[in-house]
Amino acid sequence: MDNDASNSGLNRRDMLRLLGAGAVAALLPGMLPEAHGAEVAAGGQFERAKGPGVIFVVGDGMPAGVVRAMHEVRTGVFGRKDSNLYARLRDPKSSIGYSATASLSSIVTDSAPASAAWSTGVHTINHSLAVLPDGRKLTTIFELLKPRGVACGLVTTTRVTHATPAAWVSHQADRDLEDVIAEEMLAFKPDVLLGGGRNHFDPKRRKDGKDLQAGFSSAGYDVVSDRAALLATPVQAKPLAGFFSGSHIPYYVDRLNDSNLSGVPSLPEMTTAALKRLAKNPGGFLLQVEAGRIDHASHSNDAWSAIMDTIELDDTLGVIDAFLKVNPRTLVVVTSDHGNSGWGVNGTGPEYNDATSALRSYRAGKASFEATIKRMQGKSAGEIQTLLTEMSGFPISPADVELVIQAMQPGFQPFPGDFIYQPDATMGRILAHSVYPKQGAPTIRRGNVGFTSCNHTAEDQMLLVYGHKAKEQGVDRLVENIELFNVMCRAFGVHHANPTMTLAQARPFLLAGTADKESLRRHIA
Ligand SMILES: [Zn+2]
Repeated sequence: MDNDASNSGLNRRDMLRLLGAGAVAALLPGMLPEAHGAEVAAGGQFERAKGPGVIFVVGDGMPAGVVRAMHEVRTGVFGRKDSNLYARLRDPKSSIGYSATASLSSIVTDSAPASAAWSTGVHTINHSLAVLPDGRKLTTIFELLKPRGVACGLVTTTRVTHATPAAWVSHQADRDLEDVIAEEMLAFKPDVLLGGGRNHFDPKRRKDGKDLQAGFSSAGYDVVSDRAALLATPVQAKPLAGFFSGSHIPYYVDRLNDSNLSGVPSLPEMTTAALKRLAKNPGGFLLQVEAGRIDHASHSNDAWSAIMDTIELDDTLGVIDAFLKVNPRTLVVVTSDHGNSGWGVNGTGPEYNDATSALRSYRAGKASFEATIKRMQGKSAGEIQTLLTEMSGFPISPADVELVIQAMQPGFQPFPGDFIYQPDATMGRILAHSVYPKQGAPTIRRGNVGFTSCNHTAEDQMLLVYGHKAKEQGVDRLVENIELFNVMCRAFGVHHANPTMTLAQARPFLLAGTADKESLRRHIA
């Protein structure tokens, strides 16, 4: 017999043992009233907004594989009747299409031009925010709307200076100049700015010693730095900035299992705070909400962290549902900027019939690879075996540990060579490996999410639109990602056409030599 929890008969003690009390509080709110995250937010405390709104929800690097896995885990492991996302996908009132994601320079985009495609309606080259390769700045949707009295908000689980939020404000050709992007954020003054990335605003961590947090305070912002302050700050008609982590906000699975992280708000909590603020603006609002680390987990081939961060996105859609009940003049877009790492729930076992159970078995995971690898540093093989077994919930052999230790060596060359994040990818492969004899039960039983690389991928992405006039947007088909700029412009009655370039014109400006492992690793670490 496998260890699946049934939809109807969840055993509380089993769930506590498997997941830790924090996770149960978050995911099974009926059992523990003091829920974290979505359940607090979905309590229905939204007021009627003063103007119309558009909520643009990004699952960064959230291809169909992780979306289906999230739905399966949400319903099959955590006992929900349905996921919020699938309920909207099934709803005949929703508009469902596909988004092509290629940038100007490549069929495989990175987050910077992907987000700039939405914010400007124009394709630019990889690594660039809202700027053409020849240096011409592209006017963003935020820059069009703010002077017209529309409030602009950014909420993310990454650094707020990371590519997806940055591309709605910044015109850097180099997305890695995050200290500069932080200054552009302060200069633009979004009405809400919530996420990680405090280091880029901190005088002690910035090379130039500028105190940008003080800059927000003197510009009249409520500035908060932990969950308690975020929840306690009265909702006022003034701007709000919150930096809750030096770098990215820790993965959802780590926040659920590590009490040291209880001061970090969840994505649903940040979204709730943002919507309450933005709803006070008479001219309406545009809010980008990003579950930004689904992408990072997939780069690391860390299936469970990716699934759990997608569950957090699904919780956030629950918050947005509560907002829509009070505010039907709100349009919601849910999409992803690109695929990642060939995310695949593989068929496994005789006739593939063990695949569902194998996927559900990831639920014993108690920590992300990011947190686990930090704890593995300087440890012996035996200690690593104990740690990996405990953190993953899967049996880990000495031979597995030997592979992980090899992958931790600085000069390690993986084969095939595109599994650049190590030992992450090696760990992902180990946790996805079961051994089935010709007959009977598996001799080694683990998960089944396989990855083709540690890199972004090219496949088209889900494009779900619902709420106010969703069916009138003309995106219930395959569209270019740039079309979503026009959707946002239409919602606020704005017309704008940015300049464009062809690939031939852009080619002389393409950078060489930026594909080294360290420059890529910077995006997820
Ligand atoms: Zn991305």
